[in-house]
Amino acid sequence: MADGEEGREVESEGFETMAIHGSEGEDPHRALTPPLYMTSTFTFPNVEEMGRVLSGERPGYVYSRGSNPTVASLEKVVAQLEGGESGVAFASGMGAIAAVLLHFAKSRRPLVFSRHIYTGTRHFVSEMLEPLGIPVRFVDLRVNGEGLSGLRSRLEEGAGGVFCESPSNPSLDIVDIAAVSALCREYGVPLAVDNTFPSPALQNPLRLGATIVVHSATKYLGGHGDLLGGVAVGSREAMRQIATVEGPLLGATLSPMNGWLILRGIKTLSLRMEAHTLRAGALAKLFAESSQVLEVRYPGLPSHPGYETARRQMAGAGGMLSVVFAGREEAGRFMNALRVVKIGVSLGDPASLVEHPARMSHRGYSREERESMGIPEGLVRLSVGLESLPDLQIDVEEALRAL
Ligand SMILES: *Cc1c(COP(=O)(O)O)cnc(C)c1O
Repeated sequence: MADGEEGREVESEGFETMAIHGSEGEDPHRALTPPLYMTSTFTFPNVEEMGRVLSGERPGYVYSRGSNPTVASLEKVVAQLEGGESGVAFASGMGAIAAVLLHFAKSRRPLVFSRHIYTGTRHFVSEMLEPLGIPVRFVDLRVNGEGLSGLRSRLEEGAGGVFCESPSNPSLDIVDIAAVSALCREYGVPLAVDNTFPSPALQNPLRLGATIVVHSATKYLGGHGDLLGGVAVGSREAMRQIATVEGPLLGATLSPMNGWLILRGIKTLSLRMEAHTLRAGALAKLFAESSQVLEVRYPGLPSHPGYETARRQMAGAGGMLSVVFAGREEAGRFMNALRVVKIGVSLGDPASLVEHPARMSHRGYSREERESMGIPEGLVRLSVGLESLPDLQIDVEEALRAL
């Protein structure tokens, strides 16, 4: 675990400055770029010094499954960017989510989930938490959903934690994070928010009242489609156990190499998010004008039911959008006709990617189950990359014409 303590005094610095300089201050050689400590273990000059490090009397590193200086630099930077005190890095986003959920589950109280969450999180619930006997409840937390009365009754019954995601993957639904946080605080229940889609450059759930924020660093934080990673951030209190128990004992430990690459990616996060948003906004308009498209889901379009909330809680609508075609066949034909945009899962890369949940990420669910998650058969998710905008526009226009 890395404390953002030093970071807090520079919290008045701008986001980009923190992203670029936030990891400095630990290297004895004052290297501009944080050094890569590619080591499994650390040695001690004698047993007395070892005792001081092991007892916590003196700061130091012991074994990289527990902590590593390169990984600690990353944890410190992401904690600063999210406005949290502490961060813990993981080998993947699912590593971070699993650790947070197991931490919540120790309360032995039911865990409450937004119905509109990432499919891996959903599978963790059905394939891990439920078989282990951990009670789980789903509620509709969308701003255009059933309202927060469902959440209130679940909180009345007692809950060990609440988990949501906004904008959601792949349905692009918006949750009013401040409103959900306020309700959870009223009942003293911790709230974790998956902030992967907006990244810390566009949304900071902790500043809106959430307890913990989780990221798949595989996506925008790394930003180059070349690694897997995850990060959880919260108050020192909220992260203490996760950093010392769930993190090291689950063993989903981030490689220092990947930590170093994510640190490098973060330096350009803000610029990339601006460029992703610009391109996604332009493509969303293009889709909205097409008669082949039944619905465009992009929080930056005034037609999106979460538009006003998104404007309040996000600094930009981001690079993700979903488009609904008439059906499965139309979705497939559109995807086959794309040339610049590649077919593939994952997101947040410089390369634009298109995914069809009914055929790919959500193929294991029935049509009805997908509908209940807000995913019609013809929904296609686009991760708008950083290619030249005219090339993307021509690619999409031609694919729409092929329908
Ligand atoms: C990809 C993703 C995850 C899981 O992250 P991995 O790094 O693939 O384990 C979690 N949440 C969201 C919203 C994602 O898009």
